[in-house]
Amino acid sequence: MRCPFCGTLDTKVVDSRLVSEAAQVRRRRTCIECHERFTTFEVAELQMPRLIKNDGSRVPFDEEKLRSGIIKSLEKRPVSIESVETAITKIKEKMQATGERELPSRWIGEAVMEELQRLDQVAYVRFASIYRSFKDINEFREAIEHLESHVTTAPNTPAKEYKEDNE
Ligand SMILES: [Zn+2]
Repeated sequence: MRCPFCGTLDTKVVDSRLVSEAAQVRRRRTCIECHERFTTFEVAELQMPRLIKNDGSRVPFDEEKLRSGIIKSLEKRPVSIESVETAITKIKEKMQATGERELPSRWIGEAVMEELQRLDQVAYVRFASIYRSFKDINEFREAIEHLESHVTTAPNTPAKEYKEDNE
């Protein structure tokens, strides 16, 4: 690559090492012409599938939009930003694991619900009520029943506490 100091194309890698938990390669380079040193970073460019909206239009995957949707449903809930980031990473990995170049946007919605179900039950119901735009109390009840049937590790999330939080 071109030397940022003198512009010559003749540069040499003098050292390269893995950084950021092996997600990046850091290379020290030296210019053959002017002998200046500089550093480059190499990261994998991950192509995310595009999303197919209900009307058939295609839009690029928007990580910020995903993040703000999740954070909004977790408002005032005892869930750390770190858990949110982990959930986002999981969703992105799942998207890539499909090997598809395009995915229905509803696919993402379901993936978010799956993560929220693990993270926080109130957030799950909040997200579901917006995402599935519940039309009546029965749909709301169904979502809660679905949630209850999926709660396997109940001890620290008693149903009573959940009800109070959702008032
Ligand atoms: Zn140079």
